[in-house]
Amino acid sequence: MQGKIIKGIAGFYYVHVAGAGVYECKAKGIFRKQKIKPLVGDNVAIDILDEAEKKGNINDILPRKNELIRPAVANVDQALVIFAITRPSPNFNLLDRFLITMERQGVETIICFNKKDIAQDSEIEQLQDIYRKCGYRIVFTSTVDGVGLDKLKELMEDRTTVVAGPSGVGKSSIINILQPKAGMETGGLSEKIERGKHTTRHSEIINIEGNTYIMDTPGFSSLALLDFTKEELRDYFIEFEEYEPACRFQGCSHINEPDCGVKAALEAGDISRTRYSNYVEMYNELKDQRRY
Ligand code: GDP
Ligand code: ZN
Repeated sequence: MQGKIIKGIAGFYYVHVAGAGVYECKAKGIFRKQKIKPLVGDNVAIDILDEAEKKGNINDILPRKNELIRPAVANVDQALVIFAITRPSPNFNLLDRFLITMERQGVETIICFNKKDIAQDSEIEQLQDIYRKCGYRIVFTSTVDGVGLDKLKELMEDRTTVVAGPSGVGKSSIINILQPKAGMETGGLSEKIERGKHTTRHSEIINIEGNTYIMDTPGFSSLALLDFTKEELRDYFIEFEEYEPACRFQGCSHINEPDCGVKAALEAGDISRTRYSNYVEMYNELKDQRRY
């Protein structure tokens, strides 16, 4: 039988088989056979060991479309990152790191800015201004009045989307609207920490409908840059590209060089200060990183 791993906890994999339910599986022999560990999102072949108890064994991992390292999931079509426009206001550094991490892994990201109902127009305009220039798809939503949620659904249709975001932005509220059966806990941060004390959170796949899946990924705080060079970083700031021909030096890092087109664009207000300062911060971080 074939199914999809929707969750992995402590050596057990939960495999959803369409029309038959979820089987608790071990993966005995897989590593020896295929030298890979099963991941959430893997399409697998299983042997049923006990139909009544819904237990099985994974005997084959089917070829992966792709494999993400952060988060560790397989067969992803796109990512959705959720921030609030306000309360809490976005951590742009975390957002830019997420965008780069995904792009580095070949995955396109949709940015969702939630809590539109309590946002000022100027705050919305600022976000639009920064991220539209970088070419990302942006959706503004509110779970209070439902604004933007149809658009979001449409962007996710028939795809498998990794969903991430820091706490308090409304990620659980959005998932619960997309899939009422998901039953995600919502509420204030402290309440959730209290309730979450005895439950470890894991990446988990939720079927929205038909071929639409989301992979809810917990833990968003530690987004170290994947191993790449400081020279490669500028390729991930797409909005720099049109100004680079004006740099005097080829391979200009846009940090200290004279006659830099990117810095001129920054001064002229054509490149966002937030994006540029995140670039500089990450550049310095990569410079200090030990190379292996
Ligand atoms: P999560 O931590 O990202 O999963 O966020 P929750 O879904 O638990 O929401 C955090 C808080 O924000 C809760 O108090 C929600 O009621 C509130 N919230 C969620 N979405 C919205 C929204 O669109 N507008 C407003 N004003 N509050 C929201
Ligand atoms: Zn330059």
